Amino acid sequence: MAEKVIPLADHRIASTVPLIPAGALPASGRVVDRLARPLRDLRISVTDRCNFRCSYCMPKEIFDKHYEFLPHSSLLSFEEITRAASLFVAHGVHKIRLTGGEPLLRKNLEVLVEMLSRLRTADGTPLDLTLTTNASVLAKKAQALKDAGLQRVTVSLDALDDAVFRRMNDADFPVAEVLRGIEAAQRVGLGPIKVNMVVKRGTNDQEIIPMARHFKGSPIVLRFIEYMDVGATNGWRMDEVMPSAEVISRIGDVFPLQAIDRSAVGETAERWRYRDGSGEIGVISSVTQAFCHDCNRARLSTEGKLFLCLFATHGHDLRALLRGGYGDEQIAAAIGHIWQGREDRYSELRSATDPGDGRGERRVEMHYIGG
Ligand code: SAM
Repeated sequence: MAEKVIPLADHRIASTVPLIPAGALPASGRVVDRLARPLRDLRISVTDRCNFRCSYCMPKEIFDKHYEFLPHSSLLSFEEITRAASLFVAHGVHKIRLTGGEPLLRKNLEVLVEMLSRLRTADGTPLDLTLTTNASVLAKKAQALKDAGLQRVTVSLDALDDAVFRRMNDADFPVAEVLRGIEAAQRVGLGPIKVNMVVKRGTNDQEIIPMARHFKGSPIVLRFIEYMDVGATNGWRMDEVMPSAEVISRIGDVFPLQAIDRSAVGETAERWRYRDGSGEIGVISSVTQAFCHDCNRARLSTEGKLFLCLFATHGHDLRALLRGGYGDEQIAAAIGHIWQGREDRYSELRSATDPGDGRGERRVEMHYIGG
């Protein structure tokens, strides 16, 4: 029988209160880390809760009714999130993605969207403001999110086959409802829409072609994500990872493909177009082809810890500063100092480590840090 893994320590991971560096220069719209990577992209987790129990992310055996999610008082308020976001923007962040957990479970999320949509980059342009969602309540929320200033959404959908999808989300949630959410997002203009499919060999790889066929010919960009060794609870195994190269070869056998350029530096997806001109797909090869060298993403957890890598084992407690009476300049200086010291490149070093073997420090869980 498979052993049940019980987290020994709080999954919310070690953190330290950041130093406020003396004599730091004010934020200048650009800060680079030790590997010359600028800070451009911020992912904000607005809740650690989710109504799905995808086995690769929040397996039911661990995230059950006894699991202690964060109390509401631990969460950053919308005002705190917006204040922190504005300091990241002052350092050069152009794109903010709201995530979780399931971000649409956070009450009145459109109010936060409205607050964030008012931020401007150093050169006065609005942010690229987006959201990643399982779309379970998107049909209901799409119009309010659009009205609040959200630009686009990325929807997670791992299969078109209803039985496969229900098994994967482990919440008996139907595909039809997700498709309804996608249609609503299209209708209100929350685009360009991306759909992310995590591919697990032996679980949903038979869905690759049906998914490609379904979205081919539409403006929706389907992206295939390699199943990653995030966190410490999903029982990750390399033999369940389907390399992107194999996904591309399978699709290319049916629908001929041609590689196209990445849309921007630091973009996670490699892009391919259908040779018949009927759209594009992407692959995110976080396991087989690390993209740390131009990673420009920071992550703010639900309770205000700053993580510099999805595979981090340690966070920086910005909430302590936000609630500690410090001024914007001081907190911005602390953020700049943290970024300048960054040298994380976990995925590139993966081959030298042994992911998930329990010997190293505990890694942060995806639903908490935000995907
Ligand atoms: N609840 C939202 C959703 O479903 O999109 C946002 C949070 S979810 C953690 C963000 C993304 O991370 C989803 O596309 C999910 O499929 C992906 N994800 C979670 N665990 C993963 C893993 N082990 N490997 C690859 N992708 C993963």
